[in-house]
Amino acid sequence: MSACASVRPRFSHRYFWGECEHRFGAVSLLLTIATFWDPAAIAARNAIAQLRAGVATVDITDREAGPVNDPLYVKALVLECGGAHAVLVTVDAVAVGQIGTIPNDYLDNVRTRVKRQLGIAPAGVMINASHCHGVVCPEIEDRTVRAIARAAADLVPVTVGVGHGHENRIMENRRLKLNDGREADVRHAYSLPPDEEVAEVGPVDPEIGVLRLDRQDGRPLAVVYNFACHPIQGVPSGGNTADMTGFASRVIQDNLGQGAVALFLQGCGGDINPVMYKDVHHPRDAEPLGNLLGLSTLAAVREIETREDNRLAVRGVTIELPRADWAPRIIALEARQKRLLDSLRGTHLNLKSFVPLYVKYQVSGKYPSYDSHRYLLDEARGRDDFSRLDAANRRNIEQYIRNIHTMERMTRINTNLALLRKHQRQNLAAPQRTIDVELLALRVGDFVLTTFPGELTVRIGLRIKESSPHEHTFVAGYTNGYIYYAPTTEQLQNAGGAQEDSDCLLAPHWQQIYEDKVAELLRGL
Ligand SMILES: [Zn+2]
Repeated sequence: MSACASVRPRFSHRYFWGECEHRFGAVSLLLTIATFWDPAAIAARNAIAQLRAGVATVDITDREAGPVNDPLYVKALVLECGGAHAVLVTVDAVAVGQIGTIPNDYLDNVRTRVKRQLGIAPAGVMINASHCHGVVCPEIEDRTVRAIARAAADLVPVTVGVGHGHENRIMENRRLKLNDGREADVRHAYSLPPDEEVAEVGPVDPEIGVLRLDRQDGRPLAVVYNFACHPIQGVPSGGNTADMTGFASRVIQDNLGQGAVALFLQGCGGDINPVMYKDVHHPRDAEPLGNLLGLSTLAAVREIETREDNRLAVRGVTIELPRADWAPRIIALEARQKRLLDSLRGTHLNLKSFVPLYVKYQVSGKYPSYDSHRYLLDEARGRDDFSRLDAANRRNIEQYIRNIHTMERMTRINTNLALLRKHQRQNLAAPQRTIDVELLALRVGDFVLTTFPGELTVRIGLRIKESSPHEHTFVAGYTNGYIYYAPTTEQLQNAGGAQEDSDCLLAPHWQQIYEDKVAELLRGL
């Protein structure tokens, strides 16, 4: 059995201190640090330490909120080695506070209660929201604590393994690079730009990060899988749903059987959508997408050979990220909005006359207004009445379409401008020009995870994985809080053009500050 030397939640005092003093009390943090850093205590643990794990699932579906398509869950994985703990919680919810129905004090309350009931250090508790848009019940806090308590009461020795799955059929990068260099995104809130303006699509991350924990007799206890995609496809019934990741977890659990629990960790899915997100010809259905994700995860799970490994470490830091000043961008967008408004021209047509006319001119490019012989008859008489009518109609159609495209552009600007104004108000009302953001890094055997409380876009996850010193590094956004979207510095040059760069509190230079700190966290893990 290998040494358990890294079993110690560690925190950067400089940053984490203020948070802990506020949240948990200075004394408890001091005791926590003293306990984890006591060399004698660590040495004693090394002699006997064995990694143990427990897992539990509790239903959190709000059954008062309307029809239910499939249940939502909170799942807890408690890991313990030599008296030190890490708790990984996943919730089928849009976010941990701020948006959706989970209250802002949820994380602090859960941590405080877990500390009181189970003696587990607050910063060792991480809660990831799948970002599905299902409705959770008002008792979410109680049920989360219950799940953690049940998991903690059920610890068994485990073996550990890590794997990588692959899935690229179910998602797309929702930001579209346009010919003019701007970017637009695929949303229900507004229409897509015309096809001829779209130049290219962005990357996805097809990797599924998998942590497998087996009981000592080889039966699987838990599978933690990390993947980047908004689970927002919905279901044909329109009922409450955990969406594609709920279906994926069910596929994994049904196939593994024996009580194994699959916990989904949302990754850097800020700009990743399900494919066919705007389909209007077929009922949109998360289930087949989730089934594909579940099967791809299972393929990776089956490749993993677990072994005894008692390396368990949690490291936390709270950093300050700069808030944006969106005022110049808001002024520029308002000017653009005015220019577009002024560009609307009077049209001969209205919707009622435009639609049939447009269809007619699409069906027959050469003879739209009548059968061809009528045109030939005109020609024989030396007249061009129909051709002149067609030319006038085509001009009117084009003018009407120009107005429609201007209107579509304005819907995008109006929606994104509203987001920028909202976050400008929030930033102006904030007592500081920075936002405190809690980052965690977790090691379980060879599995390394770092977390962020917001919607990281996929390039950031790809960069962190690429530059990590650890082979099996994964990134979970949507964890331990929610500060809206966190796109790259480059994407923020497009502010006002797409949701990720408009639904954002952060100044463009936040990315380097964050990535430097993550690198430091990962190096120290
Ligand atoms: Zn989102």
